[in-house]
Amino acid sequence: MIIKNVTVIDGTGETPRSGMDVLIDAGRFADIRPTGTGTSSGTSSSAASGGWDDEPVLDGRGGYLLPGLWEAHTHLTEMGMPVAEIPAYMRKTLAEYLQAGITSVCDLGGLYLLPRSERETGRANGTAPAVFCARAGFTGVNGWPANSRDSHDSHDSRGGRPEFVKVAGLENGGLFQIDDADTARRHVQELLGQVDYVKCMFDGATGGAGRRLPRAALEAIIEATHDAGKKVLVHIATGADLREAVQAGADCIEHSPIPRDPADLGEAEQLAGILAEAGTHYCPTIVTWEQLGRGGDPAYLDELITDGILQPDGVAEITARPGYGKPFPHHPADKMKIRFDYAMRSLHLFHEAGVKLVAGSDIAPVLPTPAHGLLRELQLFAKAGLPSTEIIATATSRAAEKIGKRGSMGTITVGADADAILLDADPLTDIAHLTGLRHHRAVISAGHLVRH
Ligand SMILES: [Zn+2]
Repeated sequence: MIIKNVTVIDGTGETPRSGMDVLIDAGRFADIRPTGTGTSSGTSSSAASGGWDDEPVLDGRGGYLLPGLWEAHTHLTEMGMPVAEIPAYMRKTLAEYLQAGITSVCDLGGLYLLPRSERETGRANGTAPAVFCARAGFTGVNGWPANSRDSHDSHDSRGGRPEFVKVAGLENGGLFQIDDADTARRHVQELLGQVDYVKCMFDGATGGAGRRLPRAALEAIIEATHDAGKKVLVHIATGADLREAVQAGADCIEHSPIPRDPADLGEAEQLAGILAEAGTHYCPTIVTWEQLGRGGDPAYLDELITDGILQPDGVAEITARPGYGKPFPHHPADKMKIRFDYAMRSLHLFHEAGVKLVAGSDIAPVLPTPAHGLLRELQLFAKAGLPSTEIIATATSRAAEKIGKRGSMGTITVGADADAILLDADPLTDIAHLTGLRHHRAVISAGHLVRH
């Protein structure tokens, strides 16, 4: 396929190039040239260009071609859903991602996944996004989220010992509750062959009898995972957790911290410096705090309608959800509102310090679909003052880099996987041209035209 006469925004922050033809072959970007120069009637020989002739053409005139978006932090399992309903739910969710231009999805831990063969086939034939997984996560004994689960998926029925729960018929994940480095090392070795990266919960805000993953165990997990050439993504709750996780060698910090003092942006400035100096990625998942803080507030739904995330006729479905307006375990709304406000006020400090920001949403209890979580996160980045070029990078090249796929995915460069969105207006002048689905003219996933 050739996308003709398009402006290429490659996702790395490079200057956009207008009047380009993009050749896609065997699921990859095969060539990118000024319009017309790649065909036999153009200035270069067709023999050298290879594949330009007789290709189906997608007219990109007036359009902007970006890498396909990444959701770099989600959980494809819906908590509390009957197990029998999960596969259909996941297929529907993956299809929704693709329709929203999201061609890569990182699952950061969940009990269930679709079988690997189904995921790989869906990716190869363009009917599902690329799915990356952590399967099981590591936490402390009775640590988050083991302390939040109901009997449906409880893992501490045998006195809080680490377990790897298996469910017939589905590949599955779970939670390792760890209290020493040797156990951590043993379990991570079992896991490494089955995962794209490793997820740790390093959560100092765990209440009650719950314990944080010991620092020595976190270090052991990071060492073993790095030896295997993979990344460790670390959930944190406080600024102290963040600092220690960076020191331990975390590759990405998941979630913006609960502020020590909401009035003091000095803590954020300090943490930004730590992240920037270490080159650690940072995925703040601000949209999750927004939903947990404002979830039952009708004014929030009005704002989502104004911002084009929610349609007026979608309100009834959201307010009828069983969890709507109810408190989320261990995350009271007043505290989440503070966490949200602090993240919004301090985000520009992370950008200005040169922190490698990544877009990910985590959960979507108050949004039409999980795909809308990512679109809303990008809107929040814009509201917090990030430039459009940076916002695009957080959801493309930077997200690929987070999980070690830099260069091979998340950019429009020769050799990278051919994942792209064709927009009808410039997202650099207004990010709404990216977050508003009516501006999506086409989605291309693994070289297949998904929507036109
Ligand atoms: Zn999460």
